[in-house]
Amino acid sequence: MKGILIVLSGFSGAGKGTLMKKLMQTYDNYALSISMTTRAPREGETNGREYFFVSREEFEKTIEENGLIEYACYCGNYYGTPKAYVEEQLSAGKDVILEIEIQGALQVKELFPESLLLFVTPPSAEELERRLVGRGTETPEVIKQRMARACEEAQGMEKYEYIVVNDDLEKCVAELHSIVNAARNIPGRNGAFIDKIKEELKTLKEGAE
Ligand code: ADP
Ligand code: 5GP
Repeated sequence: MKGILIVLSGFSGAGKGTLMKKLMQTYDNYALSISMTTRAPREGETNGREYFFVSREEFEKTIEENGLIEYACYCGNYYGTPKAYVEEQLSAGKDVILEIEIQGALQVKELFPESLLLFVTPPSAEELERRLVGRGTETPEVIKQRMARACEEAQGMEKYEYIVVNDDLEKCVAELHSIVNAARNIPGRNGAFIDKIKEELKTLKEGAE
């Protein structure tokens, strides 16, 4: 059976990266898509691990070649999801996670209505700022930009199927996993089974007549 396409969004600093790392270490049914970006690598980031870091020209060429499922501009840089890996992993039965922002998330939902949209948030705005500052990877100016962006992104929270509060990390990982498991049972993802049992019931009924 094909895997579930999971879209995970959340304010910068909400803990998405941390959660994904823990989720991947804990369970083996997930594949995490690696995005392409024009933003510069942060200290400790490696090309091909956190992101494929490319130039603007390379990114625009990939768009033209139809190599991305979706893409968006975030705080002055391009970010996009390469198509091939996602298709490959879904066909192999993996649940594929796209850790992307809201414009991209809505593009994915349009293209793949059966995808599962999750939004991760810290318990409060103060805690978000504390985490962004505490991470120590951004200048005060960029932190200000990202907090302003969070304000805009919050306007789109209702468009997601589940809101997941990342307070206790372990609890949040378990909650994410149980949401994905519950999503397997949604009728839209079980069309073949529904058709089969309908057919069987019809055959039995006809046999009894
Ligand atoms: P994002 O990928 O959403 O931008 P990160 O995963 O980089 O966020 O997390 C931002 C900061 O918050 C990091 O310093 C991380 O260690 C910390 N953090 C993540 N989850 C929690 C949590 N549940 N409680 C406290 N701190 C957290
Ligand atoms: P960061 O610079 O903190 O790594 O990421 C900034 C924002 O870009 C985050 O909200 C992250 O989820 C989003 N992002 C990362 N990859 C992609 C992608 O492939 N497509 C889109 N649309 N957003 C992405």
